Amino acid sequence: SVRVRFAPSPTGFMHVGNARTALFNYLFAKHNNGTFVLRIEDTDTERHSEEAVKVIYKALKWMRLDWDEGPEKGGEYGPYRQSERKEIYEKYINILKEKGLVYECFCTKEELDAMRQEQLAKGLPPRYTGKCRHLTKEEKEKLRAEGRKPVLRFKVPTDRTVTWKDLVKGSIAINSEQLGGDFVIVRSNGMPVYNFVVVIDDALMKITHVIRGEDHISNTPKQILLYEALGFEIPKFAHLPMILGEDRSKLSKRHGSTSVAEFKEKGYLPEAFTNFLALLGWYPKDGKEILSMNELIERFDIKDVNSSPAIFNFEKLNWMNKEYIKSYDSKELTKLIIPYLEEAGYKIEKFNFNWLTKVVEATRDYLTVLSEAPKYMETFLKDEFEIEEGALNFMNEERLEVVKHFAEKVSQLEELNAETFKKAVKETGKELKAKGKNLFMPIRIALTGKMKGVELDILVSLLGKKRVLKRLHHAIS
Ligand code: GLU
Repeated sequence: SVRVRFAPSPTGFMHVGNARTALFNYLFAKHNNGTFVLRIEDTDTERHSEEAVKVIYKALKWMRLDWDEGPEKGGEYGPYRQSERKEIYEKYINILKEKGLVYECFCTKEELDAMRQEQLAKGLPPRYTGKCRHLTKEEKEKLRAEGRKPVLRFKVPTDRTVTWKDLVKGSIAINSEQLGGDFVIVRSNGMPVYNFVVVIDDALMKITHVIRGEDHISNTPKQILLYEALGFEIPKFAHLPMILGEDRSKLSKRHGSTSVAEFKEKGYLPEAFTNFLALLGWYPKDGKEILSMNELIERFDIKDVNSSPAIFNFEKLNWMNKEYIKSYDSKELTKLIIPYLEEAGYKIEKFNFNWLTKVVEATRDYLTVLSEAPKYMETFLKDEFEIEEGALNFMNEERLEVVKHFAEKVSQLEELNAETFKKAVKETGKELKAKGKNLFMPIRIALTGKMKGVELDILVSLLGKKRVLKRLHHAIS
């Protein structure tokens, strides 16, 4: 049965490219009733903090990509963190040694640089020449005595063409001469490298399909040679297209947010975000774009993944997010918005939840992302505010008179609601012979400090008489 894995290195943030890789693995697994494995590639223990590992868990959980096997979950093929698999790697390094497929290389950085220069001077692509392949025991002892620490290199067979049928890219053939010579599988500090451990882990974890970014295509032939050397079954490979910005350069900070945490913070809904990512390089046959996770799973077919780059269109993501916000019930949406209000400094316990929901109802159509909610809700939540410069300039004695008169009317009202509000405005206009802008604008400015904004009848009915009077009195004092 199908077994796939997502194998991130804990770098401290989850790039959207990684998130897309995780999602495609997840969709492929679920579509095929398979298993989605999470493996943490943290061999570089010094650089990888626990915090950074948690960033991965958080991002996956937020996107609802629950793994079936992996850290926190367990499974038959653990441990699922490379930092805990050292002995396993030892074992396979020894097997390669016994088979005579690896050798120690004592070349210094300077020697390797010189080798490179020599190749380049000859017009050849730089490659390790195999200098240390045939060192005698005595030569090795001598180098060791000099204090040199060897790396372990894998003997790349000469003139072999490595081929595979990539599920996305089609047939790929790479000649072993293009691999840069015998490659390192264990560093001089004893740490095995990615290309080696990934093969051991994928093989032992019985991974059937390796789905990852196309930046790994150049690693695949090296990995296939290692599978062969160890007699492991070779999985199928699918290399996903790059994600580019709209200027067709590699997606980076320059284009906007690139980490999952940033999208979450801005208030993209996880459903919108995953839906959007699913369409980066894949498109459903029926052309339906707004798709729930189940609908994505149902439709996802790796054969339909495009081999050319995907463009990350922020406007499309915004459109999708708006669509998903629309689909939320106001109470649920309010619950999602509350953390953003708290973040903006509001004491939520001061407000009644049902009242807050009404404010959300009045402002939700303006939202593209949830972090904008405090801005649009502010006029309902804060009675003290600055009057904008333009609004201040607009006011004069006559217009202030409108506010005074209107305040008088409101204070006499039994109840302030949309209807009584409109009536009070109308009467004020009649009695002061004020019309249009001269009538509405002073009232708007007194109530909001701004010349534009929400419908005033909605605002006043949610504020109630007391708060409206407070604002009007403040404006005329
Ligand atoms: N740790 C590697 C990465 O994050 C995994 C690559 C792979 O899937 O083989 O790029």
